[in-house]
Amino acid sequence: AAPVSAPAVRTTCAYCGVGCGILATPDGAGGLVVAGDPDHPANFGRLCVKGSALAETLGLKGRLLAPRIGGREASWNQALDLVAQRFSETIARHGPDSVAFYVSGQLLTEDYYAANKLMKGFIGSANIDTNSRLCMASSVAGHRRAFGSDTVPGLYEDLEQADCVVLVGSNLAWCHPVLYQRLAAACEARGTRVVVIDPRRTATCDIADLHLPLAPGSDAVLFNLLLAEIDRCGLVRENPENLAEALAAARATLPSATGLAHSVIRQFLDLWCNSERVVTLYSQGINQSDSGTDKVNAILNCHLATGRIGRPGAGPFSVTGQPNAMGGREVGGLSNMLACHLDIDDPAHRSAVGDFWKAPRMAEKPGLKAVDMFRAVEDGRIKALWIMCTNPAVSMPEADRVARAIAGCDFVVVSDIMARTDTTRLAHVLLPATGWAEKDGTVTNSERRISRQRRSRAAPGQARDDWRIIADVAARMGWDEAFGWQSPAQVFAEHACLSGVAGRLGSDFDISDYAGITEAGYDALAPFLWPQAVGRNGGRFFGEGRFHTPSGRGRMVAVTPRLPAPAGPEWPFRLNTGRVRDHWHTMTRTGLSPRLSRHLAEPFLELHPADAARLGLRQADLAEVMNPQGRAILRVLVTDRVAPGHPFAPIHWTGDTGPSGRIDVLVPGAVDPVSGQPASKSATVAIRPF
Ligand code: SF4
Repeated sequence: AAPVSAPAVRTTCAYCGVGCGILATPDGAGGLVVAGDPDHPANFGRLCVKGSALAETLGLKGRLLAPRIGGREASWNQALDLVAQRFSETIARHGPDSVAFYVSGQLLTEDYYAANKLMKGFIGSANIDTNSRLCMASSVAGHRRAFGSDTVPGLYEDLEQADCVVLVGSNLAWCHPVLYQRLAAACEARGTRVVVIDPRRTATCDIADLHLPLAPGSDAVLFNLLLAEIDRCGLVRENPENLAEALAAARATLPSATGLAHSVIRQFLDLWCNSERVVTLYSQGINQSDSGTDKVNAILNCHLATGRIGRPGAGPFSVTGQPNAMGGREVGGLSNMLACHLDIDDPAHRSAVGDFWKAPRMAEKPGLKAVDMFRAVEDGRIKALWIMCTNPAVSMPEADRVARAIAGCDFVVVSDIMARTDTTRLAHVLLPATGWAEKDGTVTNSERRISRQRRSRAAPGQARDDWRIIADVAARMGWDEAFGWQSPAQVFAEHACLSGVAGRLGSDFDISDYAGITEAGYDALAPFLWPQAVGRNGGRFFGEGRFHTPSGRGRMVAVTPRLPAPAGPEWPFRLNTGRVRDHWHTMTRTGLSPRLSRHLAEPFLELHPADAARLGLRQADLAEVMNPQGRAILRVLVTDRVAPGHPFAPIHWTGDTGPSGRIDVLVPGAVDPVSGQPASKSATVAIRPF
């Protein structure tokens, strides 16, 4: 055990995209004492309940501590040899597109970079996609349409400098609690007005001056109404591309689809239009939709038209769910992106990255996005699959179908910290990975701030860092030189160096000042924002009006809102899904803390009193929720927080066999046509007493 006097290690939280800094102090008994880092610019010492309980999730019970082949313990050499051999054979026999990686926004950037490089530059396919596809792909696509780049314009401090903050499809109080705390403090200090736009009355409404419980899926209608109002009030101050077309679409939009009273809409329009400093912050309620990209652009349109973007206290702000969704975007971890925000469809970009990597076989086209990837696993086009740091048998839409697809795949590798999850049990080869507190690397939070995650205790058993596992497999596939890193600092330096190449091609992601970073420099690396020329505009993008489009102007999108079809008589309820305050994803870690399970102890269904009465369900009864994809059994929570016909259930719970709290078994595989992000919040279901 480390001595009690061991110094605190400065690191970052493993959970949400706020990216809070943490001081982790060895307690002398093999554990850690966790506190918020007062010097970290994301949280200034604050932590939410999940972050503060990190030390309670570090026990070794259930950890995967050695490689396994076919369920039996094996040596690293045996496991790595087999993975390399099976991937090489599959590629040789069926081509590079017959294999795939499904990765995670919880990988560190160095891990993500290594996986992306192996797949896109050496295997020669872009079949690498990530659970971040389920989280923010619509924001990426919306940014690229509007700005010519996937760039988050603003900063957290904008929430504290705004006169009005509009939260759309975001339960900030539970899903990004420290940002919520910062906003609540600003409300106290300077009277910031807060609007919450959400069909459900969430905990975030506690600080709202105005709550708009709009009809599910009608967000683009509301923002088109706002754009038309902006025009009517003479607030159009910029000249973005497609202005006339976007205004015409906005003027043609009727308010009735929102289901909101005229007076409520009026209050929102007046508040937004009269607040020069306005931030519109949005999250999964916008992104997880089959028209998510249009919804994003309907929001961005309003900021582009008014020039309320990239200025202190003004701008649209997409907050990411996962701790390193943004790092994944930087390395190109989505199947339709290239490293360092370069474009996989651009031959010059492909060639520049290929030259930098000395890649033998660059991917030449986008790969399969998450839902399509698992469909390709199902029908046998993907014959070898490597899943890293994620649990798709629970978290993917059509979760039962995805689990069956993985079970039927010729060769499945899973790298994880836990031995038994719904996904690990389907693997041919299990590779033990290091977890939080055991590995070094970097993460990027929702405001583009790169922070170090630092090791504060030794790796247990034979666990290895993900970047090293990937490099070990790459070496066995014949690419030892290109993957010959000896430390995560060397991976970071290579990524920074490549970002300089990207910067010369016009990418906004350029951290090449760090290309020559030493081990000591990496150890000491303090949190930093990109762009590095922070002084130019306080670290914000687009305040000077220059975008990454060929014309340099922002680009509006004419949005014709698409609304969900009414639920039919057979499946009459439209099921909203989301997170609870104290659990994370599929609970493989937060489920280890009894304290975290005390808040909400079991999977539940929020049901409006009128629906409950009609179905003969009372408080705390069990309900069976079903549709053609699957079924779940949930505890009924009768509440008017939800609207009639629109129940809500959390995403976290799982179950070994049979009906359980697994909610994604009910979510269909419908995706946004631009981003490929699944519509996770609008499954139609039937409900009956269990
Ligand atoms: Fe961790 Fe997010 Fe909570 Fe911060 S707000 S402590 S990053 S879970």
